[in-house]
Amino acid sequence: HFVTPAMHLPKNDILNFFDTKDVNQLASQLRSEIREYASKAVAGVTGANSISADGYVLLIENEGNISLASTLPPIHIVIAGWDKVVSSLEDALLVARAQSLWSTGADPAYLHLISQPSGTVDIGGIKVRGMHGAKEIHLILVDNGRSRLLETDLREVLKCIGCGACLYVCPVYRTLLSEFGGELPSFRGLIHTYLSGDLQKLIDNGLFKCTGCNLCQEVCPVNINLKVIFWSLRSICFKNGYLDEVGRDLMEKINRFGNAVGEVKRGERPTLHCC
Ligand code: SF4
Ligand code: SF4
Repeated sequence: HFVTPAMHLPKNDILNFFDTKDVNQLASQLRSEIREYASKAVAGVTGANSISADGYVLLIENEGNISLASTLPPIHIVIAGWDKVVSSLEDALLVARAQSLWSTGADPAYLHLISQPSGTVDIGGIKVRGMHGAKEIHLILVDNGRSRLLETDLREVLKCIGCGACLYVCPVYRTLLSEFGGELPSFRGLIHTYLSGDLQKLIDNGLFKCTGCNLCQEVCPVNINLKVIFWSLRSICFKNGYLDEVGRDLMEKINRFGNAVGEVKRGERPTLHCC
């Protein structure tokens, strides 16, 4: 993809890197460079938007980069979490389409449905593997901590189809961007951090910044209650002695004075923390 790998770079760094600021010229420059690069690659690596249990890999895109990566090199490697696997081709199509509709508001320009390597029997009736597309396809399903989530209150996140609709509406993400979640945005970043076992980083990456407004659940196509996910993560942090500054202040006051306001002397105003 020509944008995603540079998501973390400031706009001016990107503009300075190229000779032109004209968007059409820039796209054309990228198009020829990426095509040349893809034509020499020994393997193309993609993810998957959904996978049916009987072996169909579904990929959606608008730019055509997935077409290049999956058909130009002789080997196509698909790497995806096992939570992308659904029971039937119909469900896989539904997930892929919902992902696009909830993400961009429109159907994708391309929908790839891949079930086997390219091949032909048109020359003398002899089967040849790899005609214009990949000769080999390898599907790698990764766990990466997902099965650990199954045993917790966080298991609901495995239903996530990755459409990103919750990000567009989240007031905290729209204000803080990468400060809310870390390298991956919002709850996805926090789940990754949780799986890494670094609870302090969970706090540093904004776990306690979710306001509980519930806008994310209202737009989520699979009805994930992110507020509950955040609360579960907070509860894990709390039980292990990790709190943000506000939480520490509240707990200290409750422990010392039996209330969340603390000792208030006549004429003084207490510090109140909004929930
Ligand atoms: S509940 Fe939290 S994560 Fe969801 S939209 Fe509101 S602030 Fe964002
Ligand atoms: S939580 Fe829901 S809205 Fe957010 S990315 Fe996942 S499926 Fe989409």
